Order: sequence, then C-alpha cells, then structure tokens
Amino acid sequence: MTSTFKVSLPNELNYDQPTGLFIDNEYVPANGEKFTVYNPTNDEEIVTLQGASEQDVDKAVAAARRAFEGEWSELEAVERGALIYKLAELIKRDQKLLASIDSFDNGKSFSDAYGGDLLESYNVFRYYAGAADKITGKTIETGPNKLAYVIQEPLGVCGQIIPWNYPFMMLAWKVAPALACGNTIVLKPAEQTPLSALYFGKLIAEAGFPPGVVNIIPGLGYISGKALAEHMDVDKIAFTGSTATGRSIMKSAASNLKNITLECGGKSPSIVFDDADLDQAVKWCHSGIMDNMGQVCTSTSRIYVQDTIYDEFLTKFTAKTKDNATKIGDPFNEDTYQGPQVSKAQFEKVLGYIDEGKKSGARVLHGGAKHGDKGYFIQPTVFADTTEDMKIVKEEIFGPVVAISKFSTEAEVIAKANDTSYGLAAAVFTEKVTKAHKVARKIQAGMVFINSSGDSHFGIPFGGYKSSGIGRELGQYALDAYTQSKAVHVNLGTEL
Ligand code: ADP
Repeated sequence: MTSTFKVSLPNELNYDQPTGLFIDNEYVPANGEKFTVYNPTNDEEIVTLQGASEQDVDKAVAAARRAFEGEWSELEAVERGALIYKLAELIKRDQKLLASIDSFDNGKSFSDAYGGDLLESYNVFRYYAGAADKITGKTIETGPNKLAYVIQEPLGVCGQIIPWNYPFMMLAWKVAPALACGNTIVLKPAEQTPLSALYFGKLIAEAGFPPGVVNIIPGLGYISGKALAEHMDVDKIAFTGSTATGRSIMKSAASNLKNITLECGGKSPSIVFDDADLDQAVKWCHSGIMDNMGQVCTSTSRIYVQDTIYDEFLTKFTAKTKDNATKIGDPFNEDTYQGPQVSKAQFEKVLGYIDEGKKSGARVLHGGAKHGDKGYFIQPTVFADTTEDMKIVKEEIFGPVVAISKFSTEAEVIAKANDTSYGLAAAVFTEKVTKAHKVARKIQAGMVFINSSGDSHFGIPFGGYKSSGIGRELGQYALDAYTQSKAVHVNLGTEL
C-alpha cells in the first residue's frame, strides 16, 4: 500500500488522494521519474509524484495479461455490463468530488467539469454498460455447402494514453468501450492532471472488477507512455493528444504491429455565410474557440466570414469576447467562464503564438496578452484580417486565440477550409439547407457542425481525417475499435 495525501479543495471538499500506481486493484509504489502537478491558478505545487518506470509498466501489463486470460474472460457479457453499470453509479455518487479534482489540477471551471465532463462520463459508462452484451458478429452466405460466420473478440491488453484537457472524460471515452468489449487496460493519464484517474482506481476496486482488469500508471510521456506504446505484450494503443506525439506513438506501436486509435490535433474552420443567423453564428463561433480555454481538439480556431457581413461579424464577435472576458477567474467561482491554461508550458506556448500573430501583421481586436499576474491566465485574443500563410492560421495553438478573415465565394472558402494537414472538425453557418449539406460534404473533416460548434455525443463517432487521427471513438464505432473479427469457415459438404 502506498501513501495518500490529504487534499483540501478550494470548494472545501476534503479527500485522501491516492499516490503511486494502481495495479491488481491495489496502490503500489512507483519507481520512475518524479514529476510535479501544479495548480494553474497560482503556479503553486499541488504534489510531486513518482511516475511509472519501464519495469513498472511491465508489471502493469503483466497484471492486465493475467486478468485477460483469467477470470475476466470467463465472465458473461451481461455481468461485464453490470460491473460497468455499477462503476457508472459510483462516478455519479462522486461526481462533485471528481469534477472538483479536475477543476483543481486542470483549471477548468467547476461548473463545466461537473455539468459537462462528469455528466458525459457517467453517460458514457452507462451507454457501454448496455452495449457489453450486444456485441454481435455476422453470418455470411458463401456457397451451398459452406457456412461462414464472424465473431467479434476482444483485442486483449489495451494501453490507453490520455491528455490533460478533459482528464476524466477522456478516461471515460477510452475505458468504458474497452471494458464493454472484454479487454483489460493499462491507462496512463497526463502528467499535468493525473489525480482524478488515480482516484478512479478506488472506484474500480469498489465496483468489484477482478484485479488487473484496469491498471493506472501515471508518469511522464516519454518514459511511461513510450514504454507502454512499445510494449510487446500490449495489443492495442489508444491515444488522444497532439499530432506530434501521435506520430511518435504510432512509431512505438509498430514494435509488434499494435492496433491503434489516434485522436490528434486540429485547426478546424468555421464558415459563416451571409445568409446565416448572425447572432447565432457569433455565439457558436465564440464558444467553438473559447470554451475550455481553447484547449479542445475540435476548437474552431479559424473563422471565415463572407465579405458582405465581415465588419458586422467582427463588431459582434468582439463585443461577445469582451463580455466573456469579464468572467475570467477562479474556476471554482460560479460565474467563471474562463480559467487558466493548464500549465506554464502551454501558457508560454500560447503567448508565443500571440506574439507571432502580432508580428505577422494580423489586426488585434481583443486581448493579445496574459491576464493578471498570477497563474496561467490569458486574455481571449481575437485576430482579424489574417492570411493563409500566417502561423496562427496554419498551426494548432490550443488556446483562446482565434484567426478571422473574409471570403467571397463558396468555392474559395471550401478551398481555404481544406487547405490544412488537419481534418478533425468544421462548422458551417447558413440558413440555406441545401448549401449547408453541400458544404458539409465537401469539407475534409471527421465531424461537421451545422449552425453549431463543439458537438459530441456518446452515440456518435468522434475522430479525424488526415493528420487529425486514425479510427473513431464513441458509439458503435468504439466497439469495432476494441474488438477484432474472427472468421470461421464451416464445410457442410464432401466435395473438395
Ligand atoms: P502535450 O504536449 O500538450 O502535453 P501530448 O500529446 O504530448 O500533449 O500528451 C498527451 C499524452 O501523451 C500524455 O499522457 C503524455 O504523457 C503522453 N505522451 C507524451 N509523449 C509521449 C510519447 N513519446 N510516448 C507515449 N506517450 C506520450
């Protein structure tokens, strides 16, 4: 058993935070590099933890392998579903605590964490609890004396590497479908936000999962994450994070040709036509980039506005940004809209892009600097008159920074929207139904929002085209991503 430490959260909740690694339903000491978790509102240390070493990763993978080959594979699917359902109810019971933990080490507003991330996580676990006993194969006609059928079997041990922007929700998106399909898991949370995932181990044990079914190994990406991605006894790697890290995980996963799902970055466009409901378009374009401090892979960070309404859009968008900028502050205040960026590194990276945008000649309509003197707060920043060659238009910033420019024709804006190596999401604003669907077809992205932004739902596939990723999460698609097909050919005749 390892130590726990007492945490007093800003909203006066107190709890015992487990440390170490969660392996075989127990917290055990870690032996890898130390790393420090900071409070992004004031840059103060929350705790220094020891991460998983390569040997620790071996231990966690061995535990997951034993569980996969043991009791877990004997369990009927309906019983797997019942355990996942129990877990969902424990998440519901601890919703406030888990939301507070995420808000504390990530900096997101408590109300978003509670009513957004944690509610979604609860629903994701309930959705996959129900799916566990509905995973079916196919029978395929192959000839008069032949029968062929296909069974969907679990992959085995799944390594899951998650990011810091939605700490608990990203865990839910990955853990729930993998369990429903009968896999076992080694989960590596991000080093910036490992606390809710470590706490989750308690719920796994309390729900009654057999030891080794879910193992949790906080640690540094280039040590614990890399060891997991390279491991010869891991069957799948599912990852969410930057495209650069996705690329290196794909290389690591080549060791034993692992099955992979990668959900990576984006530079998603919003297209606003002159026949759009302008106030609605402003509202959704604003939340599409500013929600979660711009730290969303589907953030619509490029806005293209038709020239006839460009100036009016800029005026309204700037007013909306100004209004929301009054709600920057402590994530635990009820009316806070924007908290700090997650870490000093992200804070500096985003400010670097803001400087770059100014130098490249983009017009600053709002913000353009840090906010306050403490923590990692940044003013929501609106650049106008941007051009396609600017870094702030080409590269993912992952902060509250938007690049707005104008277009005149549909063909021109589609070419601009698609002129990127990314392809995660896009938004289209128009009141013309045929135009909306035509443009949606021409956009190269895994998700298109019509008169909306940032939508996701546990029943709907989530993932990207091009360098935004490989594979899909959520819905029935995740059941495919966590199973493999076995074809069984049966001969019913005697002829060769
Ligand atoms: P960021 O750069 O914003 O921290 P990343 O995409 O690098 O985002 O991180 C997402 C997750 O990937 C984290 O859990 C991180 O520890 C992990 N990670 C980072 N580098 C590697 C790597 N080389 N191999 C495996 N996992 C990694």
